[in-house]
Amino acid sequence: MYIQQIENQIYRIAIPIPFPMKYVYCYLFKDEDGWAVVDTGFNYSEAIKVWEMVFSKLSIKTTSIHSIYLTHYHPDHSGLAGWMQTQTGAHVYMSETDYQSFHRAFGESKLMAEGFANACVEHGMPRDLAEKVERQFVRMGDHVLPLPEFTILEDNRVRLSGEDWDVIPTPGHSDGMICFYQPKKQLFLAADHVLDKITPNIGLWPYSRQNPLEDYLQSLEKISSLEVKMALPAHGKVINDLSARIKEITLHHEERLNDMFQLTKDGKTAYETAVEVFKDRELNSHQWRFALAETLAHLEYLHQCGRLIKSKDKMIQYHANQFVNA
Ligand SMILES: [Zn+2]
Repeated sequence: MYIQQIENQIYRIAIPIPFPMKYVYCYLFKDEDGWAVVDTGFNYSEAIKVWEMVFSKLSIKTTSIHSIYLTHYHPDHSGLAGWMQTQTGAHVYMSETDYQSFHRAFGESKLMAEGFANACVEHGMPRDLAEKVERQFVRMGDHVLPLPEFTILEDNRVRLSGEDWDVIPTPGHSDGMICFYQPKKQLFLAADHVLDKITPNIGLWPYSRQNPLEDYLQSLEKISSLEVKMALPAHGKVINDLSARIKEITLHHEERLNDMFQLTKDGKTAYETAVEVFKDRELNSHQWRFALAETLAHLEYLHQCGRLIKSKDKMIQYHANQFVNA
């Protein structure tokens, strides 16, 4: 059940993750020199067990894995890259932008966790919750060890299962995320850019690009012109109608932007807004991190297109720009 053959030389592998999405789907590509892997999973024992089972089922000698590509730096994708590199000696490729984000998130300084906790407080989150969010963020770093030695992916084309695939930068879910596209086969490796059921989290993070939702919507637009027979995402089911899914996700963000605009009209912090938006769900500190980052991404989008004004007293508040029509 963990292995699905997509084509002769292409496999989709379900690697368990300890999050509600249950699996990250990694991809294996066979060629005359051996194997390439796209994404690796989160480093915990369940995931390692499944990889070992997959290697044995497909008769893959670990030393025949020559390349590991990471679509982005998040730990459910990058977490086992170091482990796999130790087993295989393969190069681990990632975009330069996400290489930098990876080190800010999981390097020794834990810059991103600290910066995010400070931003949470500035945006109205109670300090004790912000501290929990920070501790939980720091703990994530345990699941990407050992840190791999990265090679920056500079090419705009890679060879996978003996064919050329275009590397398509799709900033949004992370600043440096990349997808892969094979025009003859019309296969699109969608990473976390387009998912089947849930909408990918678009969050504003410290030290990152300042309007990630705008980046994301542009990245959706960018891929909407591709001829795609099958999109292979990193979570959830295979997508057969990519353009329909792109339309649904775009609509979701338009609705959410309108909701957030209505909520903040008379002035609210991002935290107060998130409390309203997510009021039907009990959030733990891990989920609060994404809830606040996502709320901020939408509020910043509205701010940067002039619909909301930002003011700072003790905390940062957003409210309607009275000179712009709602
Ligand atoms: Zn993911």
